[in-house]
Amino acid sequence: MELEYDHSMKDFCGTCSRCIDACPTEAIHENGYLLDASKCISYLTIELKDELPQDYKNKMGNWMFGCDICQDVCPWNRFSKPHQEPNFLPHPDLLSMTNREWHEITDDVFKKLFIGSAVQRTKFKGLKRNLNFLNPDNE
Ligand code: SF4
Ligand code: SF4
Repeated sequence: MELEYDHSMKDFCGTCSRCIDACPTEAIHENGYLLDASKCISYLTIELKDELPQDYKNKMGNWMFGCDICQDVCPWNRFSKPHQEPNFLPHPDLLSMTNREWHEITDDVFKKLFIGSAVQRTKFKGLKRNLNFLNPDNE
């Protein structure tokens, strides 16, 4: 099927290397433009179905689902605009969860907090795996 497409994106990075420098797992190649998904916290905490690799224990900070540090540090993202979509807002109970409640989360609470959310992608089992992996020193 012939699709309508636009041109490839221009390179606006210049000499910036903020995302490369900020990535805690060195998932982005030192020369940029190449990302090793198998090292990326977003992949590890969302897509990986096996156990998390032990040698990442001290690199993953407090991330229990996704990461996006590279997006946070990118100077171009300061031009992004906050969404106005109520369906994207977090469940109100989510924001009041304590550290202890996260670690004691049950399947029922998971379902209630993340109904209709992309967090369902990792399932309760995956989120528990991620929580159990967090370094207690970071809590
Ligand atoms: S999402 Fe996090 S771990 Fe993945 S490339 Fe970006 S900074 Fe690195
Ligand atoms: S932080 Fe943004 S502008 Fe800087 S190198 Fe990464 S993608 Fe390019």
